[in-house]
Amino acid sequence: MTRRVFGRAFLVSLLLLGAAGAASYTVKAGDTLYSVARTNGTTVAELTRLNRLGSTALEVGQVLTLPGTSSGSAPAAPVSAPATSPILPATTGASLPGVAVRAPFSLRMGDGFTLRLSGMRAGQASVRFPSEVGEDVRRPAEVLKPIGAAGEFLVPGRVVLGKTTPVVYEVSVGGDLVRGQIPVLGLDQPIQHLNLPVSVTNKLQDPARAAEEAAVEKAYARRTPQVWSRPFAPALASARGTSSGFGQPRTYLAGGPVAYHYGTDYPAPTGTPVLAVNDGTVIIAGKYPVRGNLVVIDHGAGVVSMYFHQSRLLVKAGQKVVRGQKLGEVGTTGLSAGPHLHLEVRVRGEATNPAGWMNRLWPR
Ligand SMILES: [Zn+2]
Repeated sequence: MTRRVFGRAFLVSLLLLGAAGAASYTVKAGDTLYSVARTNGTTVAELTRLNRLGSTALEVGQVLTLPGTSSGSAPAAPVSAPATSPILPATTGASLPGVAVRAPFSLRMGDGFTLRLSGMRAGQASVRFPSEVGEDVRRPAEVLKPIGAAGEFLVPGRVVLGKTTPVVYEVSVGGDLVRGQIPVLGLDQPIQHLNLPVSVTNKLQDPARAAEEAAVEKAYARRTPQVWSRPFAPALASARGTSSGFGQPRTYLAGGPVAYHYGTDYPAPTGTPVLAVNDGTVIIAGKYPVRGNLVVIDHGAGVVSMYFHQSRLLVKAGQKVVRGQKLGEVGTTGLSAGPHLHLEVRVRGEATNPAGWMNRLWPR
């Protein structure tokens, strides 16, 4: 079950220019936190930490403390922090003629995220994530066209589980190109040992497994236009917490291999309605050895949601569904130890934290 391996260290020197920083810097018109970091050989994360900044907004005349002896000659070590540390809500950015790029300040492994492009040429830009090259990612560094949305253009990104090196993004238009990077924090969850009975884990050896994997890989490879226009919503009307969190490393059998949990488990009684998290088209509705009664919805823009282990299904492949529509009922079919819904939200085939999508049109 473990497909994921730790991403090869991908050293990025672009943002780590050599000049030793002065002790402080006074903000001038046109400066961004990103540009100040770049010209002083440091990172947005470091400036934020040193100056205890709550957002990326800078004021002209504001004095920023710089890391005094930072030579910037070595890439920052992978950052790790407890899961309870605050996630900075603000964004950082980069720009090139006719395109301004906004990106999250920092990410956790398994986050879905959004690059936001604005400006006259934003609609013509192409985006890639070159840090995906050499990682265990489906279709790494795919060339992506931004999606137009209310005055800006968006590109969804993904941080695979196991990744701790920065996400590098590259935006190009005409002959111009700009790169930026976003630090990635770990999840620091202890390994959970499920010790499932052999009768359950035998499903991993089921001969129908190959067909199951082929079906979901085909779903991950779809690239259709975005169809949703409202925020994502929960898949259960009233969730009673989670029994296994997203990204949880775990073993199925004592001494067995560690696999990341690609979804979030919501315990609920058998028969509880399972609801579509957003508008889309059902592309899989069927029974499989591991996922049990499975529904997969293609929302477009490379985003699919997946609903595992249902006791019965009420939709068919090819059917269009709307947010909140009943897809089936909670059950414990497939590789499952009790009634629950396992929900996944994938971006171009890679699992992202469903919580990052809930009540939002796009993840931050
Ligand atoms: Zn699960």
